[in-house]
Amino acid sequence: MYQIKINGIVQGVGFRPFIYKLATEQKLTGFVLNSTSGVLIEAEGNKNSLDKFIYRIKNELPPAAKINEFQFEEFPDKRYDTFEIRMSSRSKGSTLISPDLAVCDDCINEFNDHDDLRFQYAFINCTNCGPRYSIIEDTPYDRPVTSMKSFVMCDYCEGEYKDPLNRRFHAQPVACPQCGPQLQFLDKDLSPILGNPIENTIRDLKDGKIIGIKGIGGFHIACDATNYNAVELLRQRKNRPHKPFAVMCNEANISDIVIINYEHLKLLKSPAAPIVILPKRSNSEGLNREIKIAENVAPQNPNIGIFLPYAPHHYQFVTEELPFVIMTSGNNSNEPIARTENELQELCDCFLTHNRPILNRSDDSIILPAKEQNILIRRSRGFVPSPIKLPSQTVPTLGCGAELKLTFSLSRKNDLFISPYIGNSGSKETMDFYLETYEKYLKWFKLKPELIACDLQPDFATTRFAENTKLPLVKVQHHHAHISAIMAEHKLDEKVIGISYDGTGYGTDAAIWGGEIFIADHTNFERLFHLNYMPLPGGDAAITHPIRIAYAYSIAAGANTELVNGISELERNVIQKQLQNSFNVFQTSSMGRLFDCISAMLGLFPTITFEAQSAMALEFLCGNVSVSDSEPYSFEISEDIIDIRPIIIEVSKDIQKGVDHKVISQKFHKTIIDFTLASVQKTSVVSGLNKVVLSGGVMQNRILLNGLIETLTRNNFTVYTPRNLSPNDGSISVGQVMIANRIIGS
Ligand SMILES: [Zn+2]
Ligand SMILES: [Zn+2]
Repeated sequence: MYQIKINGIVQGVGFRPFIYKLATEQKLTGFVLNSTSGVLIEAEGNKNSLDKFIYRIKNELPPAAKINEFQFEEFPDKRYDTFEIRMSSRSKGSTLISPDLAVCDDCINEFNDHDDLRFQYAFINCTNCGPRYSIIEDTPYDRPVTSMKSFVMCDYCEGEYKDPLNRRFHAQPVACPQCGPQLQFLDKDLSPILGNPIENTIRDLKDGKIIGIKGIGGFHIACDATNYNAVELLRQRKNRPHKPFAVMCNEANISDIVIINYEHLKLLKSPAAPIVILPKRSNSEGLNREIKIAENVAPQNPNIGIFLPYAPHHYQFVTEELPFVIMTSGNNSNEPIARTENELQELCDCFLTHNRPILNRSDDSIILPAKEQNILIRRSRGFVPSPIKLPSQTVPTLGCGAELKLTFSLSRKNDLFISPYIGNSGSKETMDFYLETYEKYLKWFKLKPELIACDLQPDFATTRFAENTKLPLVKVQHHHAHISAIMAEHKLDEKVIGISYDGTGYGTDAAIWGGEIFIADHTNFERLFHLNYMPLPGGDAAITHPIRIAYAYSIAAGANTELVNGISELERNVIQKQLQNSFNVFQTSSMGRLFDCISAMLGLFPTITFEAQSAMALEFLCGNVSVSDSEPYSFEISEDIIDIRPIIIEVSKDIQKGVDHKVISQKFHKTIIDFTLASVQKTSVVSGLNKVVLSGGVMQNRILLNGLIETLTRNNFTVYTPRNLSPNDGSISVGQVMIANRIIGS
């Protein structure tokens, strides 16, 4: 008899019927069982069949299943008569929870089949698809501990649920129109509107209304992406003047609006169904069709984030008739994604909702395709709460994250459980969501942190939270955490050259760092080079007014300040005084601020309305080209400083000479690549190191990222870049866990 223990994503993904089917085919007897510590199998039969059974388990896995650990032992036979699926047992230990999965092709075929019981039923699912994380209360995953517990299965559904050879065997959310959840359409006051909820939705979307739509991990706010006025209305209500919106597309119409290849389509259609950022198709390449999305969906941006329907009801209103629907996260500003309609009454004209509660929220995940890899810039729905593997064992540790793009991470041995995307602020609502999710993770995964890590920045809500726990606390420098996270992703556990190009991170000298070249491992870092400190008058106020940065940097560099346009006399005077008296002036080596400076000098955005708006504009100005043949500006590297003042002076001269701004942007990007290479080479000479890790929010700039990979590789460095962990602050919590463990954990 073989006793087999399997851990990983093996519950709620059709694993037990799969085992049952294999065992029956191999003529084995015994049982399969879900327990809190994973799947347990006992199987008897002839040796050949048993070995074949094991081989087939590993090689024919259901699409959404994933094996992390596989152990087996031989015992004397117990003489089982049959093979059976046994009920869950509650034992000590812990297992994993599957992420939410996009509706599968088999279910969509039934959904579109007039003769099927679940024809056009918005809650169709099976063991290969449907909600998981969002509906779970506790482990092990079983219907009575999900938000489906109040729906009593009808005979038909129960028959499928109990049939080991059925696709819905033990599919916990199984339901049909007779017994399961229902859609409902509500007006602004949350009163039910009669009629078919989907027809009402389509009618109101076409009428230019703003609709709150309850989905899997939370609400979306939707409007017709082809309707300029509707999009404008949505922008006003959300107080979001420029930031791009994501668009859910009817699959057949995708190539009308973006340039897409087979790999991108595969990503869009994967069970995680992420948003993928793709280049817009320009008019000249258009297919002469009438349908185009309104220009205010992603204004002044060559790219757009698109995704495909992933819940069954999405397929009902995103159709040929209405192929492009804005589906933006349903939240009020500085708040996390909403799970009930009453949170969004101020923003929406009406609601498409349903009566299956959302227990655990997660925003849509976002993938940014780059030249050689895709970067998961937001790891949330479809990925959480699956753990990632750390390169080494840890004591149970909580990494609290930073503030923007907030996540936390909890470790158990070498598993790391990263939270969904929590939010972009330290607001009370965001921190409530953070704590609620934290408590759930502790319960589900049976975690009890013994160590806690937070950012060095004293003002973050997460720092205060960490300080208030009584646990041993390690405060981790922001950019060290950025580098450690990407090292962890690549299982690197040695000294590397780490480059962190970022917006803001608190330095050990209390300055604002962000243009950093370190020698680092998971324990220590040494700051080899950084951009020279420049004055940031007013701190955060300057960050939303890049023109003030351009003015202050121009003064500091000795460039011609008369060329800085779009700044009032009053602002000039105030900044001059601030600089003279060093009043409320912060010192910064931030790469993000250097981008803001150059962008504002070129007149792109004197003020911004979302993070990185001006830096992105400068990237887009380059066009879709390599900058390898551009002429760089001058820079000086001395001691540990990369002096950027010559760059500012020369950009200023180019502006005066009337050089094309596109050329200036290309030269600027080339300069960063060149001074990075020069500093990395110097670092390599003194250290003998050859591995280079790239991280930090600025690495989302694909001109820069692709250029750095290409240049460093050509110069014989081995380059490691963010892939499944984000370069931005979303993965700060990962690095914090690694570093805290090395410092006092082990
Ligand atoms: Zn399915
Ligand atoms: Zn039913």
